[in-house]
Amino acid sequence: MSKVLLIYPYFKPPRDRSVFRFPPLGISYIASSLIDAGHEVHLLDCTFISKPDALRQAHLVHAEVVGLYCMVTMLEDCLWFARQLRSSARLLVAGGPLPTCDPHPFLDDFDVIVRGEGELTMCELLFAYGIGGDFSKIPGIVLSKKMDSESKIEAEILFAPDRPFIPDLDTLPFPARHLLPNQQYIQFGRRHYGYGITTVMSTRGCPYECEFCSNVIFGGSFRERSAGNVVDEIEQALAFGYDRISFADDVFTLHKKRVLEICAEISKRGLKFYWECLARVDCVDDATYIEMYQAGCRRVYFGIESGDDRILMLMNKKITATEARHAVEAAHQAGLEVGAFFILFYPGETNETVQNTLHFATSLPLDYLGLTMPYPLPGTALYERVKSQIKREWHPGESIFGSHVLIYNADFSEAKMWFGIIKGRAQFEIKHRLGKLAPVPLKLFEKFTDWIFLRIK
Ligand code: SF4
Repeated sequence: MSKVLLIYPYFKPPRDRSVFRFPPLGISYIASSLIDAGHEVHLLDCTFISKPDALRQAHLVHAEVVGLYCMVTMLEDCLWFARQLRSSARLLVAGGPLPTCDPHPFLDDFDVIVRGEGELTMCELLFAYGIGGDFSKIPGIVLSKKMDSESKIEAEILFAPDRPFIPDLDTLPFPARHLLPNQQYIQFGRRHYGYGITTVMSTRGCPYECEFCSNVIFGGSFRERSAGNVVDEIEQALAFGYDRISFADDVFTLHKKRVLEICAEISKRGLKFYWECLARVDCVDDATYIEMYQAGCRRVYFGIESGDDRILMLMNKKITATEARHAVEAAHQAGLEVGAFFILFYPGETNETVQNTLHFATSLPLDYLGLTMPYPLPGTALYERVKSQIKREWHPGESIFGSHVLIYNADFSEAKMWFGIIKGRAQFEIKHRLGKLAPVPLKLFEKFTDWIFLRIK
């Protein structure tokens, strides 16, 4: 059996002001499957450490197999790790969203790329590695046969067939939380939000096809775990000292019946903890928000994205602004804190639609507002639509405003985008802080900033 090191190469970008930090579930699932298969597994989550410390810790493991997770914001650090560990690791493997949708940047530095859902692929890969077997027939992998200058063999990229999705998620072992820096996540959470929070994934995938959404690992598959299996994992996660659970599902509320089963299971076991989830605005009814509240749900986040129906259609979001307003108000009425995410300046927007969205977002009873500029991620339909306009790679920490940077030639300037985002945040703060006194100053502020907004190119 092999000694394996799995690395989550997230280092906080210098000017990033985001306070969201969640333990990496995907790589923890890989770890638990490999442990079950008998391997010695180490997990290096770099979230709270510096690069030199991370490298020192990685070397100390003396692993023969190193697996690196990578999403688009991690490419540089992922390749850096691979080059640093190349001489000590006998097998270097890349996996995660970016290698899944584009393996090419990894071919020179890694021996194998794992595409898609990785648990079974990694187990089969390590089995083949252990017996000196052939990797090329393992579903879900990509290999590069390197150029041989002697025999003049051309470099060849070998794509094995896709691996089918795991049909029954209840068969998977729970993520290997014991390998994560739980105390640091708990302390970070308590410092920033007043509670230690960790994630649980009760479903995989999403059947919708929003144009901007990167769902490369689970694709359009939608699979659910049973309520009993989910709540078993919640109990295990709470035993590490966490106060709150965040469901990391793309759409926790997709099936009302299953949401109610989970609520009933939590109540039946008498578990006292708070939880939160992501939801679509068109999935559950008003009574379900009340049931969720009674089972400990305290916050729900909606991906609303726009307050303009034409832009919602362009995004293929399949919701309307009216549905969004109804869902936010119903959840708020049920006692839940409500968060919402919006994308401003989506390709195809006009000044008027951006202003509509800002006005709409300000008018909702929200407790949290997330505003961002569009980010065309590789593997999305939006990326395909604007790829001829892409002007640069995403480099964390590049923008003076935080972690988001404009990476394509848009119809609006980056300065205008940031003005719109700051205007929206300011409107939210005025409403939130002034409460009943807000309407008059808010109206004046909106009018004045609308005037400036229209004059910025
Ligand atoms: S944005 Fe949400 S609803 Fe749309 S495809 Fe992505 S996960 Fe599904």
